[in-house]
Amino acid sequence: MSFLGMDLNSIFKSNEPAQDGKNEYLYTGQVLHVDLTKNEIHSRIIPQEFRNKYIGGWGLAVKYLYDLIDPRVEPLSLENAFVIMTGPVCGTLVPMSARTCLVSKSPKTHTIFETNIGGAFGPELKFAGFDGIVVTGKADKPVYLKIENDKATLEDASPIMGKGIFDTEKWLNNEFDFEAKILSIGPAGENLIDFSCVGSESYRQMGRGGAGALFGAKNLKAIAVRGTNGVRVREMTAFYKKMAEHTKTNLLTEDNLWAYDQGTASVVDVTNEMGILPTKNFTKGVYSGHQNLNADSIINAKIGDRACISCPMACGKFTSINGSQVEGPEYETLCLGGSNCEVNDLEAVIKFNRLCDDFGLDTMSAGVIIGLAMDITESDIHDYGVRFGDKKEYLSLIEEIATLSTRRGKDLALGAQKLAAKHGADEMAAHAKNLEIPAYEPRGSIGMALAYATSERGACHLRAFPAFDEEPFTVKNMANSVMESQNNAAVKWSMGLCDFWETIDSSIMADFLTTGLGKKIETEDLEKAGERIWNLTRLFNQKAGFTASHDTLSNKFFKKELQNGPHKGQKVDHKILDQMKTLYYELRGWDQNGQPSKEKLSELGL
Ligand code: SF4
Repeated sequence: MSFLGMDLNSIFKSNEPAQDGKNEYLYTGQVLHVDLTKNEIHSRIIPQEFRNKYIGGWGLAVKYLYDLIDPRVEPLSLENAFVIMTGPVCGTLVPMSARTCLVSKSPKTHTIFETNIGGAFGPELKFAGFDGIVVTGKADKPVYLKIENDKATLEDASPIMGKGIFDTEKWLNNEFDFEAKILSIGPAGENLIDFSCVGSESYRQMGRGGAGALFGAKNLKAIAVRGTNGVRVREMTAFYKKMAEHTKTNLLTEDNLWAYDQGTASVVDVTNEMGILPTKNFTKGVYSGHQNLNADSIINAKIGDRACISCPMACGKFTSINGSQVEGPEYETLCLGGSNCEVNDLEAVIKFNRLCDDFGLDTMSAGVIIGLAMDITESDIHDYGVRFGDKKEYLSLIEEIATLSTRRGKDLALGAQKLAAKHGADEMAAHAKNLEIPAYEPRGSIGMALAYATSERGACHLRAFPAFDEEPFTVKNMANSVMESQNNAAVKWSMGLCDFWETIDSSIMADFLTTGLGKKIETEDLEKAGERIWNLTRLFNQKAGFTASHDTLSNKFFKKELQNGPHKGQKVDHKILDQMKTLYYELRGWDQNGQPSKEKLSELGL
């Protein structure tokens, strides 16, 4: 049997029955537990109940973390842990199924957080025989974790300390295996910067929330994995048929093909037209230079398409201008590193993107923070030597932040909230729970205000995304829409599926599990799992000290008016946000302090 020219039998392993919870259908059934303090590594079986209730990916990782650590721990202390987890269909030919997550307590927000990556790391980990990795403790010297099928060891990382992500990957591929897939950190992660990321395949990142600093705090420079096994599928023919049917009728449709045609840059013109394109440190919603950053500009500079393993969409547009190359820039980088800094030169944004990828900084947070520094300078509050549109200084700042090598680099490494607070300028910072705001202006989309305020990891557009909702706005519709999107996102991320399969629903995901596992998985059970996962993140955050009062945005959005576009003069109305929150809590079965009721927890088996 073949698909896209590949022999399915070489991808899906045989249908031999599972033994002792290991090598079961879809799941490998095993998680690698790495205690860096004791230099001990064990493989442990995932309890069946965990898989039934939490699916995989995000859900399973949240469950592991919740059981493992005290939510009050300091994120960069020895006591924090992190969990990397794949989804059940990761490593099969299900399209867009390679997203692999990391869950921990965030150094950035001090909440629980999830961040995920595409590419091929997750499938390789499964081919090595593990659904996930739990990392605890701290190594006494820099190490990297080497996994070669069922053998895992901690190796000396001193030769690669201080290196950027690009050189770290090259070194590991030479040293270990050319085919190894790698997660690693650059100088930003080593320097514990709380918006540092974990990179893979040069241009992919676990970006938001400070995953890089978690590696750095544990003296873990990288994880390199090589696996040569496969993933078992129970009803191979039925699985293949469902995959082909849903790919044709649901995935390859107009609603999703924007990712293939133009990638995320296609959104630039849309948000500019809507007046919600962050511009000049979130003071404006429309940018006159947007044409230089839109999909046409990206397509003009494109030299190739890039895809994660098993994805026909290839949303990654590889660009090159005058020798500067990067995979992307994606929408968020084009806006937060472009319009938000009033840099309308695509070549400069490509350089910005590439430097962030190599030094290991989240482009989104970096763009918001540098935009803020430009604003602070132009407002004569403090001279950071960088002004809106100043490409040279803006690019120079990336290394200065990541290496903490200059005074201004150290200041900007504080993040937007603390940088503004340092200058008594709280109302200039754009964040929610200390995480810098994504590229959808909430003063022009009140639904996004609720989505940012109630996300478990601070300002996030990947839990609920009502910015493009076509329903007329009512408080009730919005509260319901955000809640349902968050529950659906919890299922999708737990399956390890990409967000850009926008039209996928629980019934399609249930089809993949039913045929892959050889037992009926009900759509309703998946939906219940999504709600359970969301509630468990809420319980974690409550125990970490978060209350309803934290479900909000920074003062900027309540106190400062947008200065141009269709939403000129608008602010986020506290009253409307509170009304939406009240109803949202009620719909969730939470009390007015945002605390899940006993009945709700019992209904969800928590
Ligand atoms: S749509 Fe893009 S990010 Fe998503 S799986 Fe495909 S290539 Fe990866």
